[in-house]
Amino acid sequence: MTDRAALVALDKRHVWHPYTPMDRYLAETDPLVVVSAEGSWLTDMDGRRYLDANASWWVASLGHRHPALVAALRAQLDSLAHCALAGITHEPAALLAAELCALSPEGLSRVFYSDNGSTAVEVAIKLCGQYWAQNGRPARTRFIALDGAFHGETLGATSLGGVSTFTRLYAPWTFEVLRLPLADDATTWEQCLDAVARLLRTHGDEVAGVVIEPMVQGAAGMRMHPPEFLRAVRELTRAADTFLVADEVFTGLWRTGRRWATDHADVAPDLLCLAKSLSGATVPFAATLTTERIFDGFRGDDSRAFFYGHTYCGNPLGAAVARAALSVYRDEDIPSQVARKAPRIAEAFARMGALPGVARSRSLGMIGALDLGGEGYLARTGWRVFDEARARGIYLRPMGDTVYVTPPLNIPDEELTLLLNGVEESVRAAL
Ligand SMILES: *Cc1c(COP(=O)(O)O)cnc(C)c1O
Repeated sequence: MTDRAALVALDKRHVWHPYTPMDRYLAETDPLVVVSAEGSWLTDMDGRRYLDANASWWVASLGHRHPALVAALRAQLDSLAHCALAGITHEPAALLAAELCALSPEGLSRVFYSDNGSTAVEVAIKLCGQYWAQNGRPARTRFIALDGAFHGETLGATSLGGVSTFTRLYAPWTFEVLRLPLADDATTWEQCLDAVARLLRTHGDEVAGVVIEPMVQGAAGMRMHPPEFLRAVRELTRAADTFLVADEVFTGLWRTGRRWATDHADVAPDLLCLAKSLSGATVPFAATLTTERIFDGFRGDDSRAFFYGHTYCGNPLGAAVARAALSVYRDEDIPSQVARKAPRIAEAFARMGALPGVARSRSLGMIGALDLGGEGYLARTGWRVFDEARARGIYLRPMGDTVYVTPPLNIPDEELTLLLNGVEESVRAAL
């Protein structure tokens, strides 16, 4: 194997890292060079192990290389690694679609596959827009989205986004949305709800859909709103007869303590976007679920079809792994594991919320977050905590000055103890 110094040199010569100011990286960062990962752990080239506190950007919900997922991937690889999905089908795509619909909120019965969270959202945007265009409401071309929203990086998803670090520079090529204030704790979610009601009253004839991250705005820094907000938005969109798009790319499949974040409010969206944990940190895979009503709006003359797709739509490897993941949720009773561990995260983060230098803390399901007082993605205190955590064997990438954990849902109890204690020590040390 190439030695560590040589790899880092090649990386620094050629690899352009995501979300990374490269000057700072080139000058200051000694990157983790990960060689393997298993369960909740990443192992680097020197044999050091790190607890993966954010489940590698929220995908390793069942831990890394879960044996059932690895076996499903290997088995699928032996027969069919890929074929196109236009007018062709295969067992993993058909069975997974049926299984997802059986588990999904009421009324979702059609699955459009793609390959990442951003494309799952693009599919939803285009389905909403085209539906109204060809079903008698062509003026419905606009979307309502929240401040702090993050729906991905393709231009449609960027347009919906409300974190200026990610959107500001792309304004010339993105569309304008009807923007709501951040839905956050008791002070602002009610204002946000008022704004939804006002916008639907004044612009209802133009609104193709309301797009939200239900319960938790992840990339905004794990901002949480109560289920009442979600329920009220569903009622308002129903009354206006427009669509509610639930972007569950982060929250889907038990991250928030319920299978779907929309379950907290007992509501069903018109479109549900899924990716990240769906294929359990193996291969990129995504799905957008929708209703018979929307599906029917694309039937009839050929020109009404959804002329859209991605090369890897419904990839058999991803679909086979996703099916295996759904079995693991059932066989290992992930829901009761989450029910047992979530209160421990809640308790630890409530305690850390009282530490000097911590402005606020919050938690929901298998998510715990702390704000360190600074503002925005370019703040640096979170990175001091990151360095302290790294020295303690925890990979704890912050979002600006928000320090958070989203561990694998099946993290063993003793590893969760290590994680929560380590985060607290790192915060104390950094402040
Ligand atoms: C991560 C994320 C996306 C984008 O997913 P990618 O796979 O990175 O394209 C979209 N929506 C939400 C809520 C996300 O958390």
